[in-house]
Amino acid sequence: MNRKLQAEFVIVGAGLAGAAVAEQLTKAGHRDLLVIEQESEAGWHGSGQNAGMLRQHASNPFTAALARRGLHLHRSLRDRLPAAPPLLATGSVLVGGQGPELAAGYRAGHTERLPAARFEELTGMQLPAQSRALYCPDDGLREAKALCHHLLEHSAATLQMEARVEGLHHQGGRVRGLVLEDGRSIEAERVILCGGAWSRDLLDLPLQPFKRHLFVLSQRQKRTSMPWVWDLDGEVYFRGHEEGLLVSACDDIPESPRRGEQPACGPEGLARLHRALHERWPQLAAPRLVRSWAGLRVLSPDDAFILGPDPRFTGLAWCTGLGGHGLTCALSAAALALRPWLGDQVDVGNDPQGPDLNTLQQAHSLERLPFTKEIWDA
Ligand SMILES: Cc1cc2nc3c(=O)[nH]c(=O)nc-3n(C[C@H](O)[C@H](O)[C@H](O)COP(=O)(O)OP(=O)(O)OC[C@H]3O[C@@H](n4cnc5c(N)ncnc54)[C@H](O)[C@@H]3O)c2cc1C
Repeated sequence: MNRKLQAEFVIVGAGLAGAAVAEQLTKAGHRDLLVIEQESEAGWHGSGQNAGMLRQHASNPFTAALARRGLHLHRSLRDRLPAAPPLLATGSVLVGGQGPELAAGYRAGHTERLPAARFEELTGMQLPAQSRALYCPDDGLREAKALCHHLLEHSAATLQMEARVEGLHHQGGRVRGLVLEDGRSIEAERVILCGGAWSRDLLDLPLQPFKRHLFVLSQRQKRTSMPWVWDLDGEVYFRGHEEGLLVSACDDIPESPRRGEQPACGPEGLARLHRALHERWPQLAAPRLVRSWAGLRVLSPDDAFILGPDPRFTGLAWCTGLGGHGLTCALSAAALALRPWLGDQVDVGNDPQGPDLNTLQQAHSLERLPFTKEIWDA
């Protein structure tokens, strides 16, 4: 185990957020970085439990802007980290008809209407009655946990695994470091908290983790490179998977995280899936269940992330609350979180038509929200 317990930048959490912060700092030329992770493997929690979809649609317009920028950064990784897990350019299809989201293009970048016959050709599935399909060729798939490992391995960061941060060390309103559960101290100039579902336990923060189930269904014909499909009206999504089809019914069950444990799959997740598939995708209702798991998505009340300095302590910043967008957005979110400290040294990606960076920063700042998790109890 590495014993270095002092660094200019200390990052708490080795999920996608922490890995992306380490990658951005490395890219900006910083070398004195330390990542602290309570588990024995990086990306073991939310970042290892997701659906792996790079997706530009989001209900919050500022999240959508960070997703477009994130996708740009995902593509540019190919030049800097050519051995990173590949981005599979499958495209995506949004399905809907009743709500206004589809007509608005759900704010995804470039989209085009997809005729029902073409939808069937691409996915092997029939469009639900009265539904329309919108194709977004720029979306795709990427293996999130492998990406998290790759970013960390190719960053300048030293990793301290199986070490849990218990508190902040501060003096005169300035962060001086962190305290570990075994009593050791870490000295730091700056601390970036990327604790995912634990973030609100480190310092009071208006975040809530929600459990979501994922299921793999067997399929006779595997279509691993088909566009992934998100049915906005049915609240269900599916994508090709090496073992069949990966499906979720978009459930959100409030749950607290547990160290060393992943959220258990409950019967309510499967029941909801069956209902959604019966109503909208009957050809998927019969296939055999191959396996299932669940993960925690961490949300703020307005669905935007919490990025950037914490006004309570100089030298402290957050990159957290990435909800269901952390794979797509971690790279751009990390850059936005560091921008108040590092300015143009960070690369926030490209989004020519979207909001400017100051607006994006404001929309994701901690100051927009009350500093308390009690907001979720109201
Ligand atoms: C079912 C599901 C499907 C999803 N699908 C997608 C998708 O298709 N596309 C997409 O873009 N996003 C998706 N997401 C969202 C994405 O997975 C998350 O936004 C992302 O993984 C969050 O990364 P994170 O680093 O913030 O959190 P995590 O990956 O949970 O990492 C936080 C880390 O901090 C560590 N930690 C916490 N507290 C401490 C402490 N005190 N001391 C030391 N270490 C600590 C934890 O152990 C953990 O490793 C999905 C999420 C779920 C649950």
